[in-house]
Amino acid sequence: QTEAAVELISKYEVLPFYQPRDKFSHKGHFGHVLMIGGSFGKIGAVHLASRSALIAGAGMVTAYLPTCGYTSLQSALPEVMVVCDKGEKQIESITYDFDATVVGIGVGIGTSEETMKAFEAFLKTNKRPLVIDADAINLLAQNKALLKYLPVQTVLTPHPKELERLIGEWHDDFDKLNKVVEFSKAHKVIIVIKGAHTITINGNKKYVNTTGNPGMATAGSGDVLTGIISGLIAQGYEPLAATLFGVYLHGKSGDIAVESYGYQSLIAGHIIDSLGEAYIDLF
Ligand code: AMP
Ligand code: MG
Repeated sequence: QTEAAVELISKYEVLPFYQPRDKFSHKGHFGHVLMIGGSFGKIGAVHLASRSALIAGAGMVTAYLPTCGYTSLQSALPEVMVVCDKGEKQIESITYDFDATVVGIGVGIGTSEETMKAFEAFLKTNKRPLVIDADAINLLAQNKALLKYLPVQTVLTPHPKELERLIGEWHDDFDKLNKVVEFSKAHKVIIVIKGAHTITINGNKKYVNTTGNPGMATAGSGDVLTGIISGLIAQGYEPLAATLFGVYLHGKSGDIAVESYGYQSLIAGHIIDSLGEAYIDLF
């Protein structure tokens, strides 16, 4: 039965997705990522995701942050533009006046009441493809009525705790997979079940990634994945292709980085810094 089939994702499955760059291309061809997130003490998450989106190949990246993050982000990432929320320590109303190709939302964003209101208002007006991670998944789990506002093929990237909040407890791995399949079909979303063998679910289809290592069990690792997938969608990859390719590249970058840093000392920034080599390794 092909519907229930599981596909293993290695270099040879992602290579057909790869989009080479035309000699005459300019940054406008590679899209504009809007990366929304951060709260006081968690600005670094937006830093990691924005930098990852750019290094994944997005033409432009704008980080959207509470005002407390402005100076650190601008100083650390000169290639990234910044738009500030009216909130100082948390996001309170998501307003911006440019057209993004894709929106990544949730890293470091927190789950305060004000942020929930801003998230709700944003979802009701947003028309762009979405990548939803971290506390934005927790916000969705708290208010499931918002699920109906997600664009078709929205990508959700929960770690195990976020997944449990979203779909409820499971008895065993089969039960978990079944619940995620049902959730994916009901809401027409792509779910990335992050872990040692990350599994992407799109309706009945299941894709198991083959790259990555335990060195990647480190703070900010998931924020990097959010940035990579957003950066790929910005360049014109379809959400499912961007997700499978992004999960593959993220793991491969971790595999390259661990050669130099070792399992204990690998940090999220090393994953980003190996992304270029992961692309080069494709050929
Ligand atoms: P997060 O918990 O949101 O920071 O996400 C962690 C990221 O690291 C996900 O992309 C996981 O798939 C990856 N990761 C965590 N632990 C492992 C592991 N033991 N082996 C491979 N990848 C892992
Ligand atoms: Mg995370």
